[in-house]
Amino acid sequence: MASKIPEIIPNYIGGEFLPAKEGGKLDVVAPATGKIYAQLSNSSEADLALAIQAAESAQPAWADLKPEERAKYLFKIADLIDANIPEFANLESMDTGKAIRFVEDIEVPRAAANIRFYASAIIHFASESHAAGANVINFTRRDPLGVVACISPWNFPLHLLSWKIAPALAAGNVVIAKPSELSPLTAWRLSEICQEAGLPAGVLNILHGEGGGIGEALISHPRVKAISFTGGTATGRHIASVGAAKLKKVSLELGGKNPLIVFADANLEKAADAAIRAGFQNAGQICLCGSRLLIEQSIYDKFKALLLKRLETWNLGNPSERSTDQGAVISKAHREKILGYIDRAKADGAKILTGGKSYKPSADSQGFFVEPTLIEGLACENAINQEEVFGPVVSLQTFKTEPEALRIANSTKYGLSASIWTQDIGRASRMSKAIEAGIVWVNCWNVRDLRTPFGGVKESGMGREGGWESLRFFTEAKNICIQWEGQA
Ligand code: NDP
Repeated sequence: MASKIPEIIPNYIGGEFLPAKEGGKLDVVAPATGKIYAQLSNSSEADLALAIQAAESAQPAWADLKPEERAKYLFKIADLIDANIPEFANLESMDTGKAIRFVEDIEVPRAAANIRFYASAIIHFASESHAAGANVINFTRRDPLGVVACISPWNFPLHLLSWKIAPALAAGNVVIAKPSELSPLTAWRLSEICQEAGLPAGVLNILHGEGGGIGEALISHPRVKAISFTGGTATGRHIASVGAAKLKKVSLELGGKNPLIVFADANLEKAADAAIRAGFQNAGQICLCGSRLLIEQSIYDKFKALLLKRLETWNLGNPSERSTDQGAVISKAHREKILGYIDRAKADGAKILTGGKSYKPSADSQGFFVEPTLIEGLACENAINQEEVFGPVVSLQTFKTEPEALRIANSTKYGLSASIWTQDIGRASRMSKAIEAGIVWVNCWNVRDLRTPFGGVKESGMGREGGWESLRFFTEAKNICIQWEGQA
């Protein structure tokens, strides 16, 4: 049965739902209406102390469970998410302004899939052993780290939280998670589901509140052994420095300014479909979004026309309607930041092909909407082609040769993903090797396989998540060599 949203969204500590000890509260706003719908516990160090104590008490027994036993809890949690997809989707859509179709069909099922994946991966997570002579065995244990911090952003609140806590818990760690203060709802509902699944108290703790407050206290706490962070590059750099000072393990998934490169020989219809999804799904608030569209000059006008045609039927508006393609952006401040980038591009001489303004789905709407925007005419050094806007804004650039496409693609400080469109397998292979990115798609975009490594190079991150990489991150390798006396 669906849960009623509490007036004050509580923390989840030691299996209990608790308000912030010092009474701190924050307003939580629904981006599509601009209205406050609840308040959020704003945690302090007193709540962190409780969570550390609960987590440390739970850790030995949790780590001692067989992987299959830990997996049973995770499978149960995944099943309960699947059983409540419409409820999770409604909460996420209200909390973030996302189009409901996208959340219901893709995002929430993916969260369950992440958890199920790590429940089964831990059962197959083998460590090495070497017979090193008749009376010797040399083997490597993969032990959990202890208390780990999982910090996730607002753009995929449930999906990215599940992506971190599932491998951490599967590997035998205990978790203190800090969701974004802008999108706490599904993390709160997930904590209810964990309680319902019988997850032992203290194994997963969720502390709500401000990044600069409870987030900072969490990353700095001496008993937190590792930090898995997804968010902006500036925050990631700060977390890396705090982690370095205390020699914590740190994994950083950060921003992107990803190129989608269309060569003249590509299937242009499919490339245009992908470019629209890559640019405007989730209102462009995706770290992997194709915010730079690099188009071979000979097909530039034709491809531009294909994009504009698709945007004629792109539905911007009320996120709770299934026909909506694009809802609101996360906050008023974020909308102003996006519009600021568009104004700056205009001042720098850009031509706005479509969009470029804020939007009201109804005359009295107080929501935070930005039109899907296509921009052309700016050099690759311009801010709009270099900085992460994180909104529904795609900038078109042209190139004449493969080396030129590569130079433009590699011209930013980021290196998360790239999408290359060509029928020439030699070019696809050369480009995908030379492009500076952690993930390259050829003739597709955002096709994910949970077994594969995920992450970026340059200022897009440090380390990899996904597949075995997350299980390696959340464990410490210990090599043990045993010799014994006796006959061979
Ligand atoms: P932020 O870096 O602002 O915040 C991310 C998380 O960190 C939030 O929970 C935030 O809390 C918290 N936080 C902020 N300051 C601190 C601190 N000093 N110590 C500990 N925690 C802190 O990013 P956004 O939420 O704005 O997310 C958008 C960014 O995330 C974009 O740059 C995007 O590219 C990136 N991202 C990267 C992905 C990847 O896999 N590479 C995937 C998705 C997003 P609070 O919100 O409460 O301030």
